[in-house]
Amino acid sequence: MPATITHPEAHTGRRDTLAQLRLALREQQVVLDSAGVGIVFIKHRQVIRCNQRFAQMYGHAEAADILGSASMSLYPDQAAFHALGEAAYPVMIRGLAHKSEVLMKRRDGQLFWTHLTGKLVNPADTDEGSIWIVDDISEQKAAHAQLQSVLTEQSLILDNAMVGIVFLRHRTVTRCNRSFEELLGYDAGELHGSSSRRWYMTEQNWLDARQQCYAPLAAGLAYEGEMLLRRKDGSPIHCEVRAKAIDPTDLSQGSIWISMDITARKKAENELLQARADLEELVELRTQELSRTVLALEKKVVEQKEAEAHIQRLAHFDPLTGLPNRLLLNDRCNHALSVAQRGHQPVALIFLDLDHFKNINDSLGHRVGDEVLVELATRLKSTVREQDTVSRLGGDEFILLLPDTDATGAAHVAQKLLHAALLPIQIEQHELTVTPSIGIALYPKDGSDLETLSKCADAAMYRAKGDGRNSYRFFTPEIQAYSERTLLLDNALRRALERQQLELYYQPQISMETGQTVGAEALLRWTHPELGAVSPVEFIPIAESSGLMLPIGEWVLRTALAQLAQWIECGMTPITMAVNLSAVQFRHAELPQLITRILADSALAPELLELELTESAAMTHPLEAMAVMNDLHQRGVRMSIDDFGTGYSSLSYLKRFQVYKLKIDQSFVRDITEDPDDKAIVGAIISMASSLGLKTIAEGVETEGQLAFLRARGCNEAQGYHFSRPMPALAFERFVQDQVAGSGAHRQP
Ligand code: C2E
Ligand code: MG
Ligand code: MG
Repeated sequence: MPATITHPEAHTGRRDTLAQLRLALREQQVVLDSAGVGIVFIKHRQVIRCNQRFAQMYGHAEAADILGSASMSLYPDQAAFHALGEAAYPVMIRGLAHKSEVLMKRRDGQLFWTHLTGKLVNPADTDEGSIWIVDDISEQKAAHAQLQSVLTEQSLILDNAMVGIVFLRHRTVTRCNRSFEELLGYDAGELHGSSSRRWYMTEQNWLDARQQCYAPLAAGLAYEGEMLLRRKDGSPIHCEVRAKAIDPTDLSQGSIWISMDITARKKAENELLQARADLEELVELRTQELSRTVLALEKKVVEQKEAEAHIQRLAHFDPLTGLPNRLLLNDRCNHALSVAQRGHQPVALIFLDLDHFKNINDSLGHRVGDEVLVELATRLKSTVREQDTVSRLGGDEFILLLPDTDATGAAHVAQKLLHAALLPIQIEQHELTVTPSIGIALYPKDGSDLETLSKCADAAMYRAKGDGRNSYRFFTPEIQAYSERTLLLDNALRRALERQQLELYYQPQISMETGQTVGAEALLRWTHPELGAVSPVEFIPIAESSGLMLPIGEWVLRTALAQLAQWIECGMTPITMAVNLSAVQFRHAELPQLITRILADSALAPELLELELTESAAMTHPLEAMAVMNDLHQRGVRMSIDDFGTGYSSLSYLKRFQVYKLKIDQSFVRDITEDPDDKAIVGAIISMASSLGLKTIAEGVETEGQLAFLRARGCNEAQGYHFSRPMPALAFERFVQDQVAGSGAHRQP
């Protein structure tokens, strides 16, 4: 605003002039009052005129209130007043305007900043006064100070922030803090003016970032995300980035970016992820392992159960045939008997044993034997009713339990069993026929528990065997008596040896040629204090089945040979000693060694011993028998076949057996003088034997007639009551002595 106040009509007439002056002054006042700045006219250091704004600025209501005031009162103090004068007047006297910012003082003493513009009315004469335009800039000043402090704060924040902060305009750095430079490995100020491309790994990354970030910025949103940036040295750095446009409506104003290094966090996160993955893998592995273990465990449990079931089966069933065993039979029998007792019903117990089953086992092998048993088991089962039990006790022994069955029913079943067994069994190339022997016991007549009933049935079965096999027998009081005596003898026999109740009798064997005693047969005698004399025919089978035959047989051999040795020592002409050998002894593997030992103990020549073996013992297992006989033959011992003719000796075997003598059974000799058949048989045996190079002896010779016949047929020796009954050793010795003394005169054959 011009400082000079003039009016174009100032030089017209005096009245007009005054009127014009008043008008001009009014106009001037309007101008002054409507100005937004303070305007003052100072003359002789006094306020001459001012506008409303000026008066208000200095705290006065009206301009008139301040007129006449000393201009110095407008300043804070005298020094400030003079300082302005000194600064302003040199400029103003040159006709120029002085401009400065000056601190002024209001009426109430409050200081405020002003912008002054001063000019002299007449630079040539300062007395004409000066005009000043005063602008209150205190608010402006305060705002500027505020801005300054904000900026200072901002730079403080920028410079001390732990995060990188960068201002970008057109993707170029206008400003950034030290942290941002350090983050990316740059020196201070190095990034200023750089393109943001510098910290992207690739051109494409940089372009992608623009796509990604600037869209939200333009929408007034913040961009937030993770970026893989590049350090100055090229190494990658993971950053979390936040950005915001300074003015979203005008992106050219730039944007501010805050970046944080999260490489460590990323690493930790990755490690965490890896650890979690590892853990999951481990858990997976463990889970698999566990499920495998569980599976294995389940399998174990199944196996265990199977094993238990198997054990259960083994405990209750016969593994070969699958039939119940004795244990299960016991259960079933107890049950059946208690039911029978309540209902007053009968129960039948059948004991079944195969005849000569051992032959099948021994000659065809156990496998064939087993198959026979399995087949038989099937047949037995299919013969009986559902409620009946067929059990196997082992070997070829079966027990059948028939609830609610009386004697008639049992006989019927027994008949059916015999019939069922009779059908030939085909195993491989063998067609086999087995026959059973059956014993039957009945509840309640014969007993009321399994043990008693099975004993009775067993005894009845033995009777069936004794009566010719392949048949059945009911248990009877006679059988009971028989089995009781068997038991009695068995027990007594166990002590017979140690109690010296056994004795040997000797029966002479006479040469047909010379009539002299050429041998003796040792025959066992047992005299029990209460039972009296027990026949070997009765007790030898018991000894055989109770395991007593071996010790008794050995005792017989030792005693007989010791006796012979003693006789010879006493001067008797050496004779042979015939000793009966049980099949049990014959089958014993140690027999040949035992014989040699005993012979050595008695110091006798082996040819003096003659072992009598029954035809059946030799022929049941011909191959094994042959081997044993060969062995004994090689040891020099002689062998004879006892009771020859009663069995079914095969001639071909006889030839191959190392047999020395055949002993013709007394049953043929008995009727030899009358029975043409016996004559023929005995004649045939003798001629056959001589053709095979075997000697013959006839046993049971009681009459002169028998003797004559035998001699006529060429029999070598004879033995029997006709010469002497078996007698004790001393009697035998005397017999021989008498014979020698009589030189065969009175018993000349
Ligand atoms: P064995 O070996 O055939 O014996 C002949 C049997 O006929 C003897 O009966 C004997 O006394 C009898 N005896 C002899 N001469 C006559 C006669 O003229 N007429 C009649 N009727 N009988 C006659 P013993 O002594 O009772 O023996 C019976 C069977 O006992 C023997 O038959 C033999 O098999 C067996 N035995 C006897 N002692 C032993 C032995 O020490 N060991 C073995 N394993 N068995 C023996
Ligand atoms: Mg004999
Ligand atoms: Mg005999």
